[in-house]
Amino acid sequence: MSQSLQQFFNSAVVSASPYHVQPSSGLLKLDAMEMRYPYPDEMKKALATALQMARINYYPNSKSSSLVAKIKSAFDIADEFEVMLGNGSDELIQIILLALFKPDAVVMAPTPTFVMYEYFAKLLGMKFVGIDLNTDFSLNLEQFLTHINTHNPAVIFLSYPNNPTANLFERDAIQQIVETTNGFVVFDEAYSAYADDSLLDLLEKYENTILLRTMSKLGLAGIRLGYMVTRPEWMQRFDCARMPYNVNVLTSTTARFMLDQVPFVKDKVSRIKLSKEDLIADLTNHPNTQVFSSATNFILLRVPDADAVFTRLRDDYKILVKNLHGQHALLDNILRITIGTEAENEKLKQALSAILK
Ligand SMILES: *Cc1c(COP(=O)(O)O)cnc(C)c1O
Repeated sequence: MSQSLQQFFNSAVVSASPYHVQPSSGLLKLDAMEMRYPYPDEMKKALATALQMARINYYPNSKSSSLVAKIKSAFDIADEFEVMLGNGSDELIQIILLALFKPDAVVMAPTPTFVMYEYFAKLLGMKFVGIDLNTDFSLNLEQFLTHINTHNPAVIFLSYPNNPTANLFERDAIQQIVETTNGFVVFDEAYSAYADDSLLDLLEKYENTILLRTMSKLGLAGIRLGYMVTRPEWMQRFDCARMPYNVNVLTSTTARFMLDQVPFVKDKVSRIKLSKEDLIADLTNHPNTQVFSSATNFILLRVPDADAVFTRLRDDYKILVKNLHGQHALLDNILRITIGTEAENEKLKQALSAILK
């Protein structure tokens, strides 16, 4: 029986493996770029009151108009653009690819980058072309432009800053990519709050551009909300690949509530940025390690034996980080560590200093 049902799975599904989430029970979770600061009780109570009013017996407003209006004003998005919300920006990546899917369509991105671009592209049966970054994690522009000319990609994904390398690619190189391709270019700004730059201005300049952002790295990973910005003529098409009511009432109520708590979020973002510099300065002192600069809420650390350090952090110190070793040659012996609260970062420093001494 099971044998005969196997034949019906699409071949991309047969060769895929599901996205793996590391078990984290009982561990200090510094592996997934979540914001670690708890919400104050008073804020939680006020949120509970707001959620009490949510009309869960009705379908949501299909376009979440009031939340969209709030997002547009909070993030300075000009009226000429349209905003689409997604169940996390992961869903928006999926919507973009669904809308651009053709059997011979090519998806391009620098590699290593956010794994979902390749994952969804391949699931749909699109061809993914990854162009390796230089060893300093900058774009290999010459290669990139050559491959644009060979493959004529339908869409290019640029994570700005890039996950997992934490850096911002050079604007000049990005503009050349946008000017060279005939397809769309998606700027995925999941970490924009932690970077001192955004490519929002390039949306005005180039018609083939799309911006993605998410609330996940701003303390709201649990509600699953991302947004996409582009011109109305493209949005009309992309909107056809979106399920009606894709953002639920509890998510949009929480997001509207949190958009009124900007000072709270800004304070946490600036504390994370400070802690990050402090952590980088501290880790630079260890011999045999390399710390990279970061425009995100995580840092990369190269150690002599990443597998061993990862295991000791987890088993001896109950700290869970992400071991990138084995994902890509450029990530050899690299650990990716989310910035936690001040106390958590202190714990991490002490653990690393004992392990690396
Ligand atoms: C975290 C992340 C996302 C996905 O965010 P969700 O909104 O939680 O789905 C997208 N792109 C990049 C580069 C990320 O790091």
